[in-house]
Amino acid sequence: MTPFDLTGRLALVTGSSRGIGLAIAAGLLRAGARVVLNGMNPDRLAATRDELAAEFGPAAVAGRAFDVTAPDQVAAAVADVEAGVGPIEILVNNAGLQHRRPLLELDLADWNRVLATDLTSAFVVGREVARAQLARGHGKIVNICSVQTELARPSIGAYTAAKGGLRNLTRAMTAEWAGGGLQINGLAPGYIHTEMTQPLVDDASFNGWIVGRTPAARWGTPADLVGPAVFLASAASDFVNGQVLFVDGGLTTVV
Ligand code: NDP
Repeated sequence: MTPFDLTGRLALVTGSSRGIGLAIAAGLLRAGARVVLNGMNPDRLAATRDELAAEFGPAAVAGRAFDVTAPDQVAAAVADVEAGVGPIEILVNNAGLQHRRPLLELDLADWNRVLATDLTSAFVVGREVARAQLARGHGKIVNICSVQTELARPSIGAYTAAKGGLRNLTRAMTAEWAGGGLQINGLAPGYIHTEMTQPLVDDASFNGWIVGRTPAARWGTPADLVGPAVFLASAASDFVNGQVLFVDGGLTTVV
């Protein structure tokens, strides 16, 4: 047994049908956890569930399609998982989206959509899961932040506001729930090559700028996030409260 062992624990990872959430879900499974996957597209979710079940066994992986921005769906899904799959020991609030548009051209509807998905969902899902975790006296919540939790850049104002807010939501959850035995922390990926960032990888000048701007001199991969996620989900971080762990190849430490 190591302090990173997750045997016997159940994790709900939102937005885990692909990308970073999928990599984190697979990493938690590899560390011994059982995982409930989530996404909006039921077909993609089922395909991912089957893929992981083939590797880790059908009993280790479940899937629940629901919209993290819809409070009724969230409450029903969390109650269903708690009753039918098991107590959610670990919640990873990962579901998110990007919308690139300068602030002066940004519609309020798009602002609201980004804020709902990237910030409010962590409150909505976190509140439902924390009710059950607090009743048990322990639990882990990992909020997936971003380098935009710390830094801004043009054209992604709504995302920057949401991810900055997520840091302070992490602190607010800590202020209210840490005394009840919960550890709530943020994990902030740097520039990670996924479907969300494919347009940036394909843009030669942006790609060159990111590689030059990152001390580690490369894009991150979803696999780079697994160790830090396991750390924040495990007993290894039992006295780590309200922090944001930047996994960004050093990007936020240099100008
Ligand atoms: P992807 O676009 O590859 O995947 C997004 C996932 O979120 C999908 O599983 C999608 O489900 C799900 N999702 C989106 N909206 C909802 C919703 N309303 N309800 C439920 N599920 C939803 O994203 P990434 O893997 O790139 O990003 C994951 C997280 O990491 C995000 O929070 C993002 O902000 C953050 N991040 C990403 C970085 C990067 O470089 N890629 C850098 C820093 C942070 P479906 O398949 O059904 O659409």
